Amino acid sequence: MYVHFWGTRGSLPVSLTAEAVRGKIRRALQESRKHRLRTDREIEAFLESLPFSVRGTYGGNTPCVEIGGGTETVLCDAGTGIRDFGNAFLKSGCGSGNRPAVFHLFISHLHWDHIQGFPFFVPAYIPGNRIVVYGAHRDLRRYFMRQQENPFFPVTLKAMRGSLRFVTLQEGKDYDIAGLTVRTVRQSHPGESFGYSFRKGGKKVVYSTDAEHKGEASEESDRFVSFYRGADLLVFDAQYTLLDAIDTKENWGHSSNLTGVELAVRAGVKRLCLFHTEHSYPDEMIEQFYQDTREYLKIHDETNPLEILAAYDGLFLEI
Ligand SMILES: [Zn+2]
Ligand SMILES: [Zn+2]
Repeated sequence: MYVHFWGTRGSLPVSLTAEAVRGKIRRALQESRKHRLRTDREIEAFLESLPFSVRGTYGGNTPCVEIGGGTETVLCDAGTGIRDFGNAFLKSGCGSGNRPAVFHLFISHLHWDHIQGFPFFVPAYIPGNRIVVYGAHRDLRRYFMRQQENPFFPVTLKAMRGSLRFVTLQEGKDYDIAGLTVRTVRQSHPGESFGYSFRKGGKKVVYSTDAEHKGEASEESDRFVSFYRGADLLVFDAQYTLLDAIDTKENWGHSSNLTGVELAVRAGVKRLCLFHTEHSYPDEMIEQFYQDTREYLKIHDETNPLEILAAYDGLFLEI
């Protein structure tokens, strides 16, 4: 299996401003004073040595994650990242002409940031392609239609020429979809959201975003510990710092990085990926947040081999 992140920010897409780009260039140039940079190879090595917040960006798009390794394409959520996914997919030569494709799209819930990219998913406009949209909410089709109704968007869902099918899943039941075993879990979030686990050949990936977890020891958390149990990768809603989560933003439907560590440790997860990062945090702040999370793991359970990652648009992980 593999996981490819196309959109990782929470609530709103984020673009770099001219000022932020200039700040990154300035920092890189300051750092470069200590280095000899005559050849392209030396420049590449220097770039690699810079912190990610200087040489890159956490982005970017709202949630869209590709779960690879099945017999057909599997995606979680249709945030703005699905636009980049669709365009890259078409560039590969699939999804058009005599090579139509099937896409299985799992929707966590219907908040804008999880569906707003769908009208820009070009493969859905191409006859021959099939898109199956799964979710555990009722009336998925109606809400997808509404998003593209006048006056919100100029092209209706019906005008999309690919075939679209909507499937309602039941919580806790195993489904065999595109060669993967898929299960869903109900999560605490305004209007409810659903997490998904995908298993294949002894590997397990969990996509669990837009979920508010309270307290490490509650009965509610036992349900998630068992859902996350033994995951090779847990994609986790870590929108807030702990202070935000318990103070100003309690009941906003999201969790903190520290809760993610506690649940991942209890569930014996191998890799924890901080996801749905807060849109108002600049890159340096997310980097600090990521370092703090790793520090917290040392305090919480020093010998635990859990690997912690911060998601960014373009991150590709072999599972
Ligand atoms: Zn969200
Ligand atoms: Zn939400």
